Amino acid sequence: MTVLKKLIKRVRANSRVPVAVLSLLFVVAGFALLTQEATRESNSRKSPEMLEFEKSPDTWLANQRNVSELIKAADAGQVATVALANGHPGLVLYTLRNGAKASVTVPGCTVIGCAGTALDKIAERSAAQGFALVGVDVDPRTRSQHLLDLLGAIVSPLIIIATMGIGFFVLMRLQTGVGGAASTLSERPGIKFDDAIGNDEAKAALNRVKAFMSDPSSYVKLGAAAPRGVLLVGPPGTGKTLLAKALAGESKANFIAVDGSYFTATYYGAGVAKVKALFKLARNNAPCVLFIDEVDGIGKRSRGNEGGGAESEMNRIINRVLVEMDGFEAMDNVVVVAATNHENNIDEAMRRPGRFDMLVRLGKPTLPERARLFDLYLGKVTADGSADTAALARMTTGLTPADIANIVNKAASSAAEQGAAKVTSDHVLRAIETQLLGGEISRVKDLLTEGTRVRLAYHEAGHAIIGHWTGAGLVERVTIEPRGQALGVTYMTRGTEDPLYKQNELVSRLAMMLGGREAELLVLDSVSSGASDDLKRASELAIEMVGSLGFSETFGLLSVGGIPKELLGPDIQAAVLREARVLLEQAQATCRTLLSAQRARLDTMAQALLTCEVLQGAELKEMLGEVGRVPVPHVAAIGRDQALALAFTRRV
Ligand code: ADP
Repeated sequence: MTVLKKLIKRVRANSRVPVAVLSLLFVVAGFALLTQEATRESNSRKSPEMLEFEKSPDTWLANQRNVSELIKAADAGQVATVALANGHPGLVLYTLRNGAKASVTVPGCTVIGCAGTALDKIAERSAAQGFALVGVDVDPRTRSQHLLDLLGAIVSPLIIIATMGIGFFVLMRLQTGVGGAASTLSERPGIKFDDAIGNDEAKAALNRVKAFMSDPSSYVKLGAAAPRGVLLVGPPGTGKTLLAKALAGESKANFIAVDGSYFTATYYGAGVAKVKALFKLARNNAPCVLFIDEVDGIGKRSRGNEGGGAESEMNRIINRVLVEMDGFEAMDNVVVVAATNHENNIDEAMRRPGRFDMLVRLGKPTLPERARLFDLYLGKVTADGSADTAALARMTTGLTPADIANIVNKAASSAAEQGAAKVTSDHVLRAIETQLLGGEISRVKDLLTEGTRVRLAYHEAGHAIIGHWTGAGLVERVTIEPRGQALGVTYMTRGTEDPLYKQNELVSRLAMMLGGREAELLVLDSVSSGASDDLKRASELAIEMVGSLGFSETFGLLSVGGIPKELLGPDIQAAVLREARVLLEQAQATCRTLLSAQRARLDTMAQALLTCEVLQGAELKEMLGEVGRVPVPHVAAIGRDQALALAFTRRV
């Protein structure tokens, strides 16, 4: 009853429903009248015999006989009328002169016709005996069969239409992503700003958003504009998602995460529908942080006629996002946080006030932050506490928090694979090597001859001793295990992330790069192709020192980099190369003096490497010995990437 009442109420509320019902009734009534009229007209053209057959065919059909009986009756002149059923080849209804009614099915009849069958004989008899032969419209099916067929005819298209409808509905739902977005709606995240290490400026900015989300009314009262969009810009793995989650966690808000590609859909227009559905979901779950990762996927608007349909769909998607954001009420309490690594790909319109007007930059972690990250992630696994996180931080210049999390995870995985009870410092160092050199210990290891191993050991020991004794940096680890492209590696770190490199530090680095080759020369009396990468990098550094860093005696304060191309003649080029070569030769001389003086250490270290393959920690320190640093006169700045490139030497 209540359902009926509801229905009536709805009908009353919606005036279009009675109109639709009346129109439908009119159509049905008109159709029925037309059918009746058509039957009447068609019957008026039929003979009385035909009409008699069609009126109640069941009387004939109920009495089935065989064909020979019919032919016999025809021969005996007993047949009064014969009717052939239209549309049912071979079905014959007949009436005898004595009034008996029967039917037969002539075998051999097909839809093409009945030529050559017993029907030919009946036709001949009709002509000879003079009984009527008519065509009639009868339906031989029983009533239940008829009903079944009718139902089948109505239901099967309905089933097809329903299946298609359901399929389309499911597809549209997938495309518009209502379900997809809903499934990305996580519980209120438990993450806090303190869970993200570093990025203090970003946290301070997001704290302002948190203050609004926690108490929007106090802002609205004063007429302050609500923050609507935050754009997080930074390289992958620097914690954009983490901070967006932390914002939700701190503001006790729901969190919905999608990425730019989520909006791109197969069907034109479905992307826009997805935007609408997503913002609706966010509003319904307010307070809510709606996180759009890789927003540059949709954020670049094409101009003019460039691009095709896909581009215009993108424009529609961005426009819809902006319209949704413009439509935020102050009390909606939904903040959209978008993340990108390609700030330049973000459309200007998205950066206007009231949209993504708060820009928050995230950077790679500093040295102390990396140490804290190692502490954090090693604290989450079962570690034996042997890892020196300060040293690990020094070795991982330029890596992101995600890289560090990944390194610790890899270390824990390999510890598990080896059946170790705890994650040790060695597991972590090996994971760092894998990350930095891009590979596990390579198969090349099995191909190395003993002679090559000896050469590698002296080469790496040479790098380490020169690096250490010239004060080029801290030697963290030396290995002759081939990994990725490298056959052996000496890890050197600076112990600081000072962006300035002093002249003597660079001179020391130059010597350190040549140390491997010089050790080979000193001990084995020959050099190998393995030093080619060292020479290349040392040459680059020497040319840079002479040409741009102001360490040249010929050019003084003149930077070759600043000289216009047309003035850069062959004599200038020759002067740069000459002076760079002098620098290299000086570095070589330093190596020779030092290596001869430290020959005993060189031999001990090479032997230790041949036995253990890896040297690190106290053992390595002991072998290197104590040295003091030399004071330095000049200062120059070089880029961070270059600093990273200098962080370790590898032998290819
Ligand atoms: P992005 O979104 O910038 O690509 P994510 O936030 O997805 O980076 O970071 C990936 C993973 O790296 C996080 O799940 C987390 O484990 C770790 N991570 C990133 N930034 C930090 C951070 N500042 N402090 C601690 N862990 C971090």
